[in-house]
Amino acid sequence: MLKIQHKINFTSLNTFHLTSIADNFCILSDLSQLAELCKTLATYPQYFILGGGSNLIAPSKYDGLIIHNQLRGISLQDFDDNHYLVSAMAGENWDNFVAYCCEHGAFGLENLSLIPGTVGASPVQNVGAYGVEVKDFIESVTAFNLEIGDFVTFSNAECNFSYRNSMFKHNHQYLVTQVSFKLPKQSPMNASYGDIAKYLSTIEQPTAIDLRMAIIATRQSKLPSPDEIGNAGSFFHNPIINTVQAQELKQKFPNLPIYAQADPNYTKISAGWLIDNLGLKGYRLGHVGVYEKQALVLVNHGGADKDELLELVKFIQQQVKVNYNIQLNIEPIML
Ligand SMILES: Cc1cc2nc3c(=O)[nH]c(=O)nc-3n(C[C@H](O)[C@H](O)[C@H](O)COP(=O)(O)OP(=O)(O)OC[C@H]3O[C@@H](n4cnc5c(N)ncnc54)[C@H](O)[C@@H]3O)c2cc1C
Repeated sequence: MLKIQHKINFTSLNTFHLTSIADNFCILSDLSQLAELCKTLATYPQYFILGGGSNLIAPSKYDGLIIHNQLRGISLQDFDDNHYLVSAMAGENWDNFVAYCCEHGAFGLENLSLIPGTVGASPVQNVGAYGVEVKDFIESVTAFNLEIGDFVTFSNAECNFSYRNSMFKHNHQYLVTQVSFKLPKQSPMNASYGDIAKYLSTIEQPTAIDLRMAIIATRQSKLPSPDEIGNAGSFFHNPIINTVQAQELKQKFPNLPIYAQADPNYTKISAGWLIDNLGLKGYRLGHVGVYEKQALVLVNHGGADKDELLELVKFIQQQVKVNYNIQLNIEPIML
């Protein structure tokens, strides 16, 4: 049975800890609740599927229904001689799932260790870190279509993945219930990133577990834990701009990190560097600010709401536009 609660304090359910109240809230813990959920949706002006709340800008007041996904369960089976098929229900904690895979000899997700949130949200923005994107290992995604009340399974190609993007980001009727991953039995050991390679160089024959530990240590040294200070991880997308403009910028700012793309007409540039180079690391505006160790992360020093955060966002976007003629787009979902 689905229990709807009212006037829930949403502040601790979003990792930015933005002050927020949800008028209506329910926990989805069993697939059998979906039919009832589907029927009840028409009585609310809007709805939102919540995982770990780690990629979210929550409003002071939400008048719709928040559906908190807590579907649990993991299964592992042979896919072929070289791969396992590991399926996880959407409400599983992402990092616990990565740990489970490593412990069971199913590799590839090590580079995505310690990303907050749930398995179900991972395909939504195609989470990525340290040279790996989750799309590289997703076999299929099963979702419940809240508009027609039925399950549908999408192949990797049908998810339409791209940089921090997928078709789920634009089709909110799909509530992801389960994600299946095809994971190699031998770790691909993707350890090319500078800090990671340096950490592993001290170990004689590093294993996938060592790689996971290297990723965790590196993340902990650079990114603030939401338990200590409210944040949503990287706040702005790294802009992908045309290569001519990127080369012009590189000439003007030789230290600007740029990354070639599959299409040579486009180049990705570091949003964090652009902000840092404006001297904004550690900048503070009221209760919000730019994290002192990483300019791509905005933080809530306590007591901030969405409006205050958006003032800071506007200021940074204006500064970047004026100084580099680049439009920064935000990564978290605006609820
Ligand atoms: C400290 C920190 C570090 C981070 N580092 C990274 C990083 O390295 N790489 C990266 O890519 N991201 C990173 N993030 C962002 C975030 O962790 C990911 O986007 C994560 O996948 C969000 O998961 P969530 O469960 O918290 O989603 P939520 O924030 O709850 O939701 C995000 C979006 O997904 C949708 N959604 C959630 N669950 C479902 C579902 N079951 N079905 C359909 N839609 C759903 C929501 O409706 C919403 O649109 C970081 C965040 C923090 C706070």
